[in-house]
Amino acid sequence: MKVYIDGKYYDGKNAKISVFDHGLLYGDGIFEGIRAYNGRVFKLKEHIDRLFCSAKAILLDVPMSHEAIMQATVEVCRRNKIRDGYIRLVVTRGAGTLGLNPNRCRNPSVIIIADKIQLYPPELYEKGLAIVTVPTARNLHSALNPAIKSLNYLNNILAKIEANNAGCEEAIMLNAEGFVAECTGDNLFIVQAGQIFTPPLSAGALYGITRGVVIEMAREEGLAVLEPNLTRYDLFNADECFLTGTGAELIPVVRIDGRVIGKGRPGPVTRKLVDKYRTLTKVSGEPIYD
Ligand code: PMP
Repeated sequence: MKVYIDGKYYDGKNAKISVFDHGLLYGDGIFEGIRAYNGRVFKLKEHIDRLFCSAKAILLDVPMSHEAIMQATVEVCRRNKIRDGYIRLVVTRGAGTLGLNPNRCRNPSVIIIADKIQLYPPELYEKGLAIVTVPTARNLHSALNPAIKSLNYLNNILAKIEANNAGCEEAIMLNAEGFVAECTGDNLFIVQAGQIFTPPLSAGALYGITRGVVIEMAREEGLAVLEPNLTRYDLFNADECFLTGTGAELIPVVRIDGRVIGKGRPGPVTRKLVDKYRTLTKVSGEPIYD
């Protein structure tokens, strides 16, 4: 495996960064998770745009242009002969001193890794997930805005641990007001009486790229998509529920906090959107090979 670090390519086992990098010491940095399907990088521009928005929010100067980072991402896929895979793009604050002052970090590092990913076993896409609400609340956007895809994922990791302890793969995270925010690595949608609902981004969610694609696809299908604040009650009484994320794609949810959702199996709207998403990923994206 070839890993890109600051303009050079290294074998996986020699791909190393400094122990003084503030990405490691403080989680000071940002990242993107991107997918390649069928020899194309899916929604590459959208991911790079979001990376630059995260960078701006934390006053991190990405030492490359949008265009150069897009080209490097495609090149990493090419060198690793990726047709279908997962790309992890990381920008760290760079090596500094042991104090947390980011001004002492002179050179941010750009790291690009391309590998395989399988988030959930295939049968869960057929049967649907059982998930739970967890006690750890989503970060306040006035503290660490969940829109920033930062290297500081402890908020999500704690929630994931709580879900795992409850025997579940994913957790629903509420915000400090008790409204549904999102899951630890996915956005959440419900279907109710033919309309689609997803929490507003102001509830404390990442501006999910998959979320955006699904909203567009649903509207193309003539379905209304609304973004009101949602409570657990709204989820329990939904006809259908599904999660979206680059890694998970669209995955149905059939049980929440012990309540059966709808008929307890993936519903027709979810199935339609899953099919549409799979079709789209096969044909669209930045070509890796000429
Ligand atoms: N929320 C969180 C917290 C995430 O980490 C992710 C990405 N894994 C998502 C939502 C989904 O975003 P995207 O569709 O852009 O992958």
